[in-house]
Amino acid sequence: MKGQWEVVIGLEIHTQLATVSKIFSGAATAYGAAPNTQACLVDLGYPGTLPVLNREVVRMAAMFGLAVNATIAPRSVFARKNYFYPDLPKGYQISQYELPIVAGGELFIAGDDGAQKRIGITRAHLEEDAGKSIHEGFDRQSGIDLNRAGTPLLEIVSEPDLRSAREAVAYMRKIHSIVRYLGISDGNMQEGSFRCDANVSVRPRGQEKLGTRAELKNLNSFRFVERAINFEIERQIDVLEDGGEVVQETRLYDADRDETRSMRSKEEANDYRYFPDPDLLPVEIDAAWVEELRSALPELPDAKRERFVAQYELKPDDAEILTASRALADYYEAAVSAGSGAPQAVGNWVIGDLTGALNRDGLDIAESKVAAEQLAGLVDRIADNTISGKIAKEVFDAMWAGEGSADEIIAARGLKQITDTSAIEAIVDKVIAANPGQVAEYQAGKDKLIGFFVGQVMKETQGKANPGVVNQMLKAKLAG
Ligand code: ADP
Ligand code: MG
Repeated sequence: MKGQWEVVIGLEIHTQLATVSKIFSGAATAYGAAPNTQACLVDLGYPGTLPVLNREVVRMAAMFGLAVNATIAPRSVFARKNYFYPDLPKGYQISQYELPIVAGGELFIAGDDGAQKRIGITRAHLEEDAGKSIHEGFDRQSGIDLNRAGTPLLEIVSEPDLRSAREAVAYMRKIHSIVRYLGISDGNMQEGSFRCDANVSVRPRGQEKLGTRAELKNLNSFRFVERAINFEIERQIDVLEDGGEVVQETRLYDADRDETRSMRSKEEANDYRYFPDPDLLPVEIDAAWVEELRSALPELPDAKRERFVAQYELKPDDAEILTASRALADYYEAAVSAGSGAPQAVGNWVIGDLTGALNRDGLDIAESKVAAEQLAGLVDRIADNTISGKIAKEVFDAMWAGEGSADEIIAARGLKQITDTSAIEAIVDKVIAANPGQVAEYQAGKDKLIGFFVGQVMKETQGKANPGVVNQMLKAKLAG
């Protein structure tokens, strides 16, 4: 039955902009300060104070718009979104409504069918974040921390173009990658700097009209986005197949129980009574400044990926992984240019052992214990047959532990590959003489035993013989 339904998803992504001060005040935005030490009178909504727009957030929003091929509005307007909540002292949030700063963009993801797929970006608007309620450590009371009040957010709204949880995650990852490339957000999801609301509906395949949607609030990890959407799709299909109707509502994802729960229905929804904020002038942006920003755009993930494929002849999937973050891409390029040119091999090491070690130790690429030059040195020693790929893993671990360059470690530990064929030949002869039974079986046609012989020789040489040479020599000798 599932095949009859088409899934439709649109995301609203909230990105915290990486400014030093808040969107309408001079208070600091640094994360993790003691409660209420970074909220000034403007953030607290004191009567008589006035907001002053931080120019930097305008620049950041415009950079984002340019990166996704959108229009930067020559004139945009801040509006008041009115609702009552304890963490919102003014009783309204300053946001943009009818005239957002960014409109009509796009980006491309790998769609479910494997082809490049265009996802429309409806708009991106600037707004201030609210404070936070704190429940821990309070008995029958809640605390309020207003440090986050007034922190600048860019809310990025997609068209309902996504057709599965997988596509939604691919889109969210692409936005995440773009904002970090641009340096406009740290994208830190644990700290809430990058989170999304997912609007999910289903409709009978072939039907034009969109189904009724549920909005899943505040998803702050890629895994939760995927799980929450998949749960919600199943739930809605079950409702419809039981003859029921999906109601428009806001739902919360409970990660512990892996389910979504109703928070409020459309009837209970707020009427925000939006109106232009009389305290703020419209934002007017001149075209020349936009062109200045356009020329300052860095190379973006898609362009970098394509260049990596063309320039380094990398497999496209590897290029995608290596360009997911600018820091990783820079590391990769530094390693390639420090070595004597084996770009795919360098890529394999970065994606494999290096990323593995970083994940294991919970480190960022910037904190890597193996510098790009060191990794290049290691790849070069494999390429010139000084060490085998297997020994290279031991050298890598030693580099990670701080024992120096590949050359230093190879010398200190005596890991240099035995290239002297007469030395290898002596060991090959010894292994053949010591295993007459296996020799007979091999010669009777059990070809697979070659692996056993190679293994024995490698063991005798502590892995230092060139496996290719050993293989060839064994085959020749065993053939008699
Ligand atoms: P609101 O302001 O009430 O959240 P919007 O119309 O601005 O609603 O839409 C918010 C998001 O929901 C957008 O990303 C949009 O693409 C998506 N969306 C709208 N209708 C649907 C639907 N029927 N199914 C899935 N997503 C939808
Ligand atoms: Mg919404």
